[in-house]
Amino acid sequence: MTERTLILIKPDAVSRGYIGEVLGRIERKGLTIAALELKNVSNELASSHYAEHAERPFFGSLLEFITSGPVVAAVVEGPRAIAAFRQLAGGTDPVEKATPGTIRGDLALETQENLVHGSDSAESAAREIALWFPELSNA
Ligand code: GDP
Ligand code: MG
Repeated sequence: MTERTLILIKPDAVSRGYIGEVLGRIERKGLTIAALELKNVSNELASSHYAEHAERPFFGSLLEFITSGPVVAAVVEGPRAIAAFRQLAGGTDPVEKATPGTIRGDLALETQENLVHGSDSAESAAREIALWFPELSNA
């Protein structure tokens, strides 16, 4: 059973030169890149993407961060792709939650600047893929 997830290589990872590092880890896990784009993020897209966090105190700061430079958006495919990428990413806080061996655990220090995003459920993945790659959604 194959599954699709939406991942983002956030502006901190792009500016630190980690596009290849992140894509390499995805490929080494055995997942497939089904769509890939380097993209400047509008405020509108950022707000829709992070709508679930609109009431959080860090929302403004998060939008500023995610629109601060280009991101790489990708659709990643494979068996249990959603959980598999969340495993590769590690927990949200790169120090307290992400373990060594994960992208965040190995390469990040800050909860906000934590390098990557991955959809957290099948529903989120469908919503986020439609948002970032509308041409892929044939609904
Ligand atoms: P994720 O699913 O692991 O990316 O984490 P969440 O969905 O909880 O949060 C979305 C993103 O908001 C995270 O990846 C961080 O970039 C950022 N974030 C989460 N919690 C905090 C926080 O407490 N402070 C700040 N400044 N940013 C946060
Ligand atoms: Mg999340």
